[in-house]
Amino acid sequence: MAFRRVFTGMIAALAIVASSVSGAGAADPLYLRFPQLDEQTEFVDSWGVARPDERTHRGVDLMGSKMAPVVAVLDGVIETMGEGDRSGYHITIDHGEGTSSWYMHLNNDTPGTDDRRGGAEYAFAEGLEVGDIVEAGQVIGFVGDSGNAEWGGAHTHFELHINGRAVNPYPYLRDAWERWLLELAIARGETDFK
Ligand SMILES: [Zn+2]
Repeated sequence: MAFRRVFTGMIAALAIVASSVSGAGAADPLYLRFPQLDEQTEFVDSWGVARPDERTHRGVDLMGSKMAPVVAVLDGVIETMGEGDRSGYHITIDHGEGTSSWYMHLNNDTPGTDDRRGGAEYAFAEGLEVGDIVEAGQVIGFVGDSGNAEWGGAHTHFELHINGRAVNPYPYLRDAWERWLLELAIARGETDFK
């Protein structure tokens, strides 16, 4: 059963890679690392959904477990780290060539509580500062419910910006998710491709 599930996932991943390549024209297909190291993550294509407090949703929400690690999707430089009323604790990373990634609603609670008193210490990876060079897969922060996610469940609001415009990250995230699950399955010896 595990083999069939993983194999199906691999085929789906390859199909997504193929479709994102063809959809991206001559540009790089952007092989992202999945930004949330949480196998319980749930996400749908919520790009463009109307929201009461914004015109449309410019990203994808990755529902997850509080304090799960949030990682950089590509190599880059930390561009901003801060706290906003709606975004809560957030990080943006500049990946060069006009591409950046945004991570919002990072944790603001003391671990194990919902007290909103965690501070930056439990939002961002220890020692991380604006200007730091980060590698794809490096932990930058932790899943939370800060900002306007406070009553909606812990999640990372993820955005991908290319040449100054937010683009729908869903195909890239779905591709990254399938590849990550396959990596995990291989690491656990759950695959048998003979
Ligand atoms: Zn969102």
